[in-house]
Amino acid sequence: MFQPQAGFKKGITASKVKKMEFAGGGAAVQLIGILLCLTLVGAIFGIPLIIIGRSMSTKFLCSNCSNKLSDKSAKICPVCHVSLS
Ligand SMILES: [Zn+2]
Repeated sequence: MFQPQAGFKKGITASKVKKMEFAGGGAAVQLIGILLCLTLVGAIFGIPLIIIGRSMSTKFLCSNCSNKLSDKSAKICPVCHVSLS
């Protein structure tokens, strides 16, 4: 029996794949934040830096073409135009 490939079907939906990157600038920002947290006064600046760094190092990929999505709330992939659930 011949089965048509699902990938060519119109209106296909893909999912967003969450990916953590530790090599980028986000990891450096988190590290600075952790170091600042070692001092009581530094924690005021350190905690927001850890949160910023964490969001910087979290990337979302399109499960259809593995392209990086600039916005995690993106509804359509900018590269393959697949609907993202
Ligand atoms: Zn895509």
